[in-house]
Amino acid sequence: MRTKAYIDGKWVGGKKTFKVFDPYSGKEIAKIPDLGVQDAKRAIAAAHKAFAKWSVMPAQERSDKLVKMACQIEKRLDELARILTLEQGKPLEEAKFEILWGVKAMKWMAEEGCRIHGYASCDPDPDRSAISIRQPVGVVSAITPWNFPFYVPLKTFAALAAGCTLVLKPAEDTPICSLMLADLAEEAGIPKGVFNVITCKDPRAVGNLLATHPIVKKVTFTGSTEVGKHLLKMGADTIKNTTMELGGNCPLLVFDDADLDKAVEGAFNLKFLNNGQCCNGLNRFLVQDSVYDAFVKKCEARAKKITCGSGFKKVNLGPLINENAKKKVIRLVNDAVAKGAKPVLYSQEKGLLCSPILLRDANTKMAIWREEIFGPVIAVYRFKTEEDAIRMANDTRYGLAAYFYSEGMKRCMRVARALEAGIVGVNTTNAYSITLPFGGWKESGIGREGGIVESLNAYCELKAISFAR
Ligand code: NAD
Repeated sequence: MRTKAYIDGKWVGGKKTFKVFDPYSGKEIAKIPDLGVQDAKRAIAAAHKAFAKWSVMPAQERSDKLVKMACQIEKRLDELARILTLEQGKPLEEAKFEILWGVKAMKWMAEEGCRIHGYASCDPDPDRSAISIRQPVGVVSAITPWNFPFYVPLKTFAALAAGCTLVLKPAEDTPICSLMLADLAEEAGIPKGVFNVITCKDPRAVGNLLATHPIVKKVTFTGSTEVGKHLLKMGADTIKNTTMELGGNCPLLVFDDADLDKAVEGAFNLKFLNNGQCCNGLNRFLVQDSVYDAFVKKCEARAKKITCGSGFKKVNLGPLINENAKKKVIRLVNDAVAKGAKPVLYSQEKGLLCSPILLRDANTKMAIWREEIFGPVIAVYRFKTEEDAIRMANDTRYGLAAYFYSEGMKRCMRVARALEAGIVGVNTTNAYSITLPFGGWKESGIGREGGIVESLNAYCELKAISFAR
């Protein structure tokens, strides 16, 4: 297990360290360097130096190194999954799923790195020829969250595929997965300075530097909307190019013409992934009047079978990430119950564990309607008509994803168009694919990750060139 930061191809300790804990047992896993602004400046300088060579390396050569890294990840799957479960808590099978997802994404991004296109245009002025080309933007800084501590940092390797270099600051709860990525990058022969990892306990000083440093040309941030807004403000002075993957408050709509069993199946597949701690996860269950009771009943029967415990045991749910996460879930549930929600399932668990909570008769006055829950809570709201459902689904400052179930083709088309979200799942909650653009509308973000065109273009500048005849 790597426990030092990685700057300019060297493993770097710090005068100060901070502790990382196993969220299930509460036991210390490792002490990690608590680095500061000077270290971050060194990492930026290293990335800047490395950019000169990496950006002009033949795209196929860069791609080969990234594919090699992806293959190494596959080979070391068991070891990496154990580290992920240890520091984040998710069940081992889910940890493997997250890592393999990353392998697929990385191979795909590496290949797309060989297919960055511009275009030639027919200039109306006969004395000129015009082309437009894409070039890597430069040094990129990445700030990532704890919920997918392997996959989200790995997604930022799209920057490397495009010819940029990276300084990554992982979340303080889960830095080790990112350090393992540095280990894998080193193993794959990715040159020093191309990928750097800065670790710190308090993200503010280093985060501000990464968002403001004039050498950093792009900031890619995945995390809460509040921190995203702060980083956008910080980056304004240097007009930073940004990708912001922010919070969500995603609805699931179940219409009276839905296949109810499929809807429940889809609901459970996504709701309990990562113990409900997914940005594109289900936050609000909107169910049409006539199928409301049947839906709640089916959910109750299924939820009773869900187990929670150590991610190393055969369980469905691991612990929540930290005390604050658990307090937030309890606050939202208590507020909902005080405002009239009826708990169908609600039991207290020890430590950071949290078993499924099912609330019926939820209403839009409750805090849980507006706030991201990030826990295994199903709050079921009622709607009467399709118009009500769409109005309710869009009644949020977020717009990351939305999902619905209906067997009516015309309704599917209407509702898919009407939902204000970057990603829409129709009769599925599995709407994520590296080949599709992923990102939010409204306060859920700016820009896209993944997607045939968007994925690598996000890390390129466009240049228009006119040639005189
Ligand atoms: P967070 O915003 O608290 O932290 C995210 C990252 O930002 C961490 O690395 C943290 O250290 C850093 N950070 C925190 N304060 C900072 C500051 N003042 N300056 C610079 N950096 C700072 O979010 P979180 O709790 O780690 O993650 C959960 C959030 O992330 C949820 O809102 C979730 O929806 C969102 N998320 C979004 C996506 C997406 O793709 N849209 C994916 C995963 C998570």
